Amino acid sequence: MNSRTKQRIALISVHGDPAIEIGKEEAGGQNVYVRHVGEALGHLGWQVDMFTRKVNTKQETIVEHTQNCRTIRLKAGSVDFVPRDDIFDVLPEFVENIEDFQRDNGFTYPLIHTNYWLSSWVGMELKKSQDSRLVHTYHSLGAVKYKATRKVPLIANTRLQVEKEVLETANRVVATSPQEEQHMRELVSSQGNIDVIPCGTDIQRFGHIERQVARKELGLDQEARVVIYVGRFDRRKGIETLVRAVRESQMYGSSNLKLLIAGGSRPGHSDGIERDRIEKIVNELGMRECTTFPGRLSQEELSSYYAAADVCVVPSHYEPFGLVAIEAMASGTPVVASDVGGLQFTVVPEETGLLAPPKDSASFSKAIDRIITDLQFRDQLGQGGKERVKNKFSWDGVAIQLSSLYEDILQSVTKEPALISQ
Ligand code: UDP
Repeated sequence: MNSRTKQRIALISVHGDPAIEIGKEEAGGQNVYVRHVGEALGHLGWQVDMFTRKVNTKQETIVEHTQNCRTIRLKAGSVDFVPRDDIFDVLPEFVENIEDFQRDNGFTYPLIHTNYWLSSWVGMELKKSQDSRLVHTYHSLGAVKYKATRKVPLIANTRLQVEKEVLETANRVVATSPQEEQHMRELVSSQGNIDVIPCGTDIQRFGHIERQVARKELGLDQEARVVIYVGRFDRRKGIETLVRAVRESQMYGSSNLKLLIAGGSRPGHSDGIERDRIEKIVNELGMRECTTFPGRLSQEELSSYYAAADVCVVPSHYEPFGLVAIEAMASGTPVVASDVGGLQFTVVPEETGLLAPPKDSASFSKAIDRIITDLQFRDQLGQGGKERVKNKFSWDGVAIQLSSLYEDILQSVTKEPALISQ
């Protein structure tokens, strides 16, 4: 690695604060991604500043994570929770505040890596007035999301335009799976430079605890067949499909089933409403006894939950990557996932888990049954998953790939003037 090229990087994640305690507040894959990528890049020698929006006056403005990596919270609009679809209006203030921050500190960032379309707009605005290179990761594509949504929000056109512009003008766009790259090409634009670099997971954290020990720790029956869901409460996550699938498995003979549905929710917010809807279905299907909602879990707690389960189910309608699948695999637990997006890349059918068509509870039920009724098959898939994650999806490996992408971009920039003068 050439340390001469290790410079300052701004990782921008306007709505996904990398410094919030994951599992303790609303957090999804983007928070996890930015935090881990930032810290791992810091270890490689980059000076990483992660910019996010301040949502609470009690939050610290600067959080130091490691020697080379910190989160900087900037004001944009009221210092309060703002729904994602309304954040676009306050972005000009966010841009101004990054410009002021750079001015006050006497430097500009040669490289800006933005996350989600809102941040890409910030990156493109900054690029207009300073000499920075831009890398972008979508985390979710409007073109995919709106195809599956009946009620398209007002912001949709703006989002689609911004997503097209960033693909066509950024120095590089990072797709987290070959499937996401294909969607970008088919649905966003045929122009622009895409590199596939996956998301990662903490292979030290997940996978160090045995199933029996984890069950003892969590007070779970050693003989039960444990099925787990981990993630946000959002209709597109397909939790209803899982609940119905488990019910079907019970009806067709699988006994002593335990369903764990882990994830946070806030009463009155969209996730709270989805959780109420899921609980209602659980009650209607008579599954109250066998279902537990442990709520939001920290990454440390999650390592025991994943390890305790016989199978982890990811029933999303769409998933650009899906961190939960690789976290479960790292824990030695097979995954039954929807046959969509990044899950087709992470989960290898018959090797690390099984795939089923999204929203198809009968197929999910069959796949779950195959694993929980054949413990040898379960262990074989579990081992396969662990090996796949170790070889392909560690954060350190991901950061090394990003790091060489940045170096490539920065070096090609410094070469340009030399070429002109020849
Ligand atoms: N997560 C967590 N605690 C919970 C539920 C989820 O820490 O109670 C984490 C989970 O471990 C994963 C992330 O939230 O790292 C969800 O990422 P994923 O890519 O699966 O879904 P997204 O939220 O991005 O749609």
